[in-house]
Amino acid sequence: MVARAARAADLADLDGAVSDCFACPRLVDWREEIARTRRAAFRDQEYWGRPVPGFGIPDARIGILGLAPAAHGGNRTGRIFTGDRSGDVLFAALHRAGLANQPTSVAADDGLTLRDTRIFAAVRCAPPDNKPTPAERDTCAPWLHREVTLIRPTLRVVVALGAFAWAAWWPVLREVYGVRPPSPRPAFGHGAHWSGTTAPALLGCYHVSQQNTFTGRLTPGMLDDVFARAKQLAGVD
Ligand code: SF4
Repeated sequence: MVARAARAADLADLDGAVSDCFACPRLVDWREEIARTRRAAFRDQEYWGRPVPGFGIPDARIGILGLAPAAHGGNRTGRIFTGDRSGDVLFAALHRAGLANQPTSVAADDGLTLRDTRIFAAVRCAPPDNKPTPAERDTCAPWLHREVTLIRPTLRVVVALGAFAWAAWWPVLREVYGVRPPSPRPAFGHGAHWSGTTAPALLGCYHVSQQNTFTGRLTPGMLDDVFARAKQLAGVD
């Protein structure tokens, strides 16, 4: 699996290879089980039921790092943050920031395009209860590392959605940029900011989960502030 990730010559190659990954037995069972049983509202739809690749442009200056696809969102539509309430909140914010051409993301063929931005997840398969194990995170890490390597020439800032993504970023520093992660690791928080000399800046943002957006822990204004800061750090107008 590590070798397959490392061999990917470009993002199209990587997206194809990751879509065919079966390295985590528990997650393979879960993604396929969800695709078989389906949610009642989507019973007439064919679920993707496979790993979900990154989405966005290859010369992105801004990366958005999520946790993992949602069972009835990305795992259904085949595109990250697409077809669920988390995506509704995220893409509305990206559209307000001028980083997406439309405020909604409902299906892989809905015409959505991103500007200066690529979105990817620390774990590429939907996990039960949205909780991958540490072993699954580590098994999936080579896909993330290769994706960042491929967009490294332009990448200037990464927005980590939630503490899991924040923690998943530190090994990237060693694997992709050849630098030692800071010790102790900076704590995750909404608005937290870390900058190195050679690696992209890292910004913390509460995850766009319903748990956060329905309770008001994460508001549209808070997301707007994070993406305004990301654009500033990345030199995006
Ligand atoms: S989580 Fe990652 S490593 Fe595990 S099966 Fe899915 S794509 Fe492969």
